[in-house]
Amino acid sequence: MAIFLFTTTLPFLSLPTTTLNSSKSTLTSILTNPTTLHHFPAIAMNLCTTTSAASCSSMQHVPEQDSNQTERVANLIFQRYTSNNTNRSGKGTAIVWFRNDLRVLDNEALYKAWLSSQTILPVYCVDPRLFATTYHFGFPKTGALRAQFLLESLADLRKNLMKRGLNLLIQHGKPEDVLPSLAKTFGAHTVYAQKETCSEEVNVERSVSRCLQQVGVPSEESVGAPTTSNSHPKLQFVWGTTMYHHGDLPFDVSCLPDVYTQFRKAIEAKCTVRSCIKLPASLGPPPAIEDWGCLPSLEQLGLYSQNVSKGMKFVGGETAALSRVYEYFWKKDLLKVYKETRNGMLGPDYSTKFSPWLASGSLSPRLIYEEVKRYENERQANSSTYWVLFELIWRDYFRFLSVKYGNLLFHIGGPRNVQHNWSQDKKLFEAWRDGCTGYPLIDANMKELSTTGFMSNRGRQIVCSFLVRDMGIDWRMGAEWFETCLLDYDPCSNYGNWTYGSGVGNDPREDRYFSIPKQAQTYDPEGEYVAYWLPQLRIIAKDKRNFPGNLYIRQIVPLKFGTSSRHNKDDKSLGARRANDKGNERRWNRR
Ligand SMILES: Cc1cc2nc3c(=O)[nH]c(=O)nc-3n(C[C@H](O)[C@H](O)[C@H](O)COP(=O)(O)OP(=O)(O)OC[C@H]3O[C@@H](n4cnc5c(N)ncnc54)[C@H](O)[C@@H]3O)c2cc1C
Repeated sequence: MAIFLFTTTLPFLSLPTTTLNSSKSTLTSILTNPTTLHHFPAIAMNLCTTTSAASCSSMQHVPEQDSNQTERVANLIFQRYTSNNTNRSGKGTAIVWFRNDLRVLDNEALYKAWLSSQTILPVYCVDPRLFATTYHFGFPKTGALRAQFLLESLADLRKNLMKRGLNLLIQHGKPEDVLPSLAKTFGAHTVYAQKETCSEEVNVERSVSRCLQQVGVPSEESVGAPTTSNSHPKLQFVWGTTMYHHGDLPFDVSCLPDVYTQFRKAIEAKCTVRSCIKLPASLGPPPAIEDWGCLPSLEQLGLYSQNVSKGMKFVGGETAALSRVYEYFWKKDLLKVYKETRNGMLGPDYSTKFSPWLASGSLSPRLIYEEVKRYENERQANSSTYWVLFELIWRDYFRFLSVKYGNLLFHIGGPRNVQHNWSQDKKLFEAWRDGCTGYPLIDANMKELSTTGFMSNRGRQIVCSFLVRDMGIDWRMGAEWFETCLLDYDPCSNYGNWTYGSGVGNDPREDRYFSIPKQAQTYDPEGEYVAYWLPQLRIIAKDKRNFPGNLYIRQIVPLKFGTSSRHNKDDKSLGARRANDKGNERRWNRR
């Protein structure tokens, strides 16, 4: 059997070893001292900025470790999640259709396929629709940086499957064309896949299901089917994207609370996180295939390669993801100060940076949960260790909201159908997109996004507020630009956060005006962040870098509530989140 795709090979990754300079290690030791940081969050924030700035003069890989180290760490974690106690009793061939679950560890589709068959065929379909344009405004649907991250993830998935006696078949085409044809050729009884929840992905699922109905498999091949023998291959979904399982929610998803805190309290009280699935050491034998297909080049996807020369370069794939968990939790011991540093903007270490791997499914949220619990047992439990889980529950929440609200998440009026006169002024939007608004904090964040594919959570909230509140631009333009650029783009988290930030989200109490002067003063008091991304500001006194006046480009719009850093009474969202944070800190302390 010969299945051909592309003839190019993927350039293999070679990562330089990053050396820590002495000033960084000194600052890191201060940064990881819980006594200093726990009591002085503002100091922690400044330290974080300074630490990062010191180490940010050039590009930094995330994770920092070289490829030998990442390999070693991943092997150790794989060993911990290997079990040979399960018996395989299935028959025939099962297909695993990889989607946003590009991992081996804790992958239920892979596990179920293994249990139900004698042979697994793992497949990834390079769907041309992923490389088309966004829905309303015609931006590239997948920018070059995320495409590169995806290709690295697929190369790594293939490597990890090969270690377990399998391989990954790369096919170029729509899943609804590719999968039925493969099912027919290999007489597969079932296609296993991770369930998605947003309309574009669900439509693909429906098409695949419909087309599989057209395929007849010889009855002797379908003996291993998990339910009754059937002449058509089945499409079986597993739930695998969230930390808490969809099936364990204490309410029907249609009754999901519209207030996050109510949701979080209910699941924390009534649900437990399921354990990660352990896989056998060998998942083979693979089906007899001569040519497993090559990964496409960026050019073949219609994109130009983009080098990250500054800021963070994320390495795609499960091996890098596991290594980042090890690096952040265990090697650098940063988990214990997460809550104090998480609002930083500069460098890899103020927050976990797990999101790109979570979005592509290279990292299981349940694995993070288990690692947090292990850390709490072996090192310490504090509000920071809890807070990583708190943020992951936000991620779960947006996923479940997408089930409850469906396409309303993408509508201009959001889930509540809020009426507002939005502008689609091209000049204003382009100034925002290109980082030319005249506000250093906005411009620096937008330049980071287009250069690296990443932006801090603080930055995202600020640029979102500026676009919709100060410029009055249609929030969907911002959301679609994020869709193009973000390495961690996920429809639920992205559109969920944008609807929140624009005041059209499901929670009517959310009001998100972020005052730029106040944000700059609190989160970038020395202008380290803006000077990193806008080097022309380095010659300006530190306290003026965020307010450079005539020394920087002209401000494209006035701020809704003025530019003085003393006029910050409208920074309501920050107030709201802080009030929530306090409540949650109290809650944690009671445990
Ligand atoms: C306008 C806007 C758009 C966003 N778009 C996305 C997106 O497309 N994909 C995405 O993963 N996140 C998105 N976020 C949420 C958040 O900014 C990122 O998850 C976070 O910055 C990733 O960095 P981290 O992994 O270091 O996060 P950490 O602070 O280390 O948090 C740990 C994890 O918790 C989850 N998390 C944290 N905050 C949020 C949040 N507000 N919503 C959902 N999950 C959260 C993420 O999975 C994250 O990796 C968006 C936020 C805003 C304000």
